[in-house]
Amino acid sequence: MAMKRVDLEQHRLQYYGIMASARAAIERHEYLRAVELASSAWDYVDGMMQYERKYKKRVFESLDCVELVLRYAPLLLDIERLTQLKVLLNTQRRVEKNTAVDLGVKMMRAQVRLHEAHRLLDYLERNRRCEEDKLSEVLGGHHDGWASLATELEAVELIRSEIVDRTRWLLLVSRLDEVVAGKCPACGMVAHAPKVEFFVDRACASCGNLASFVIIQERDNADVTV
Ligand SMILES: [Zn+2]
Repeated sequence: MAMKRVDLEQHRLQYYGIMASARAAIERHEYLRAVELASSAWDYVDGMMQYERKYKKRVFESLDCVELVLRYAPLLLDIERLTQLKVLLNTQRRVEKNTAVDLGVKMMRAQVRLHEAHRLLDYLERNRRCEEDKLSEVLGGHHDGWASLATELEAVELIRSEIVDRTRWLLLVSRLDEVVAGKCPACGMVAHAPKVEFFVDRACASCGNLASFVIIQERDNADVTV
């Protein structure tokens, strides 16, 4: 059944509200959170598009809720989110039909990107560091492709680089399964858990609030009890 104007308008407001939060998350460097938010805007994208096409005569080049996920999910190895996006594009045909860019092609590129990001991060995890110029030797492919991927992974703070004697070395910032300390912003309780778990809201064992914990300390050794 077709949605009424007032409902479409409601979906449109929801959409822009969520996407504003997603952009704010990127500014705070909370990339996983941004991807999570952008994907929650998918529920409203059809209503938003219908409204704007009908009442604002808008022509869509692309969609930020899709582009954001296509850009960041591969770097964060969020394969599940990419799969969900693929399902969305396949089931809500209107979304792709009414955007000018070829989202199918972008999706395929994102899947390749995720595979490459996984290989690079996996290599660094096992070897600790690598000269950027040696990447194509050890992983195949082309130097420029790896160099641009390394730059993107550095931008989302998963790796860092050091230049020693004109050689650019790549290193992991920290392992995502590394145990770190996070503080509940509501009651101040400190919890220890794998770093990746602090990227999303968690229930505080002390005050019960669902809160966005602040990572307060990195640990070199993971030999603490979680
Ligand atoms: Zn708490």
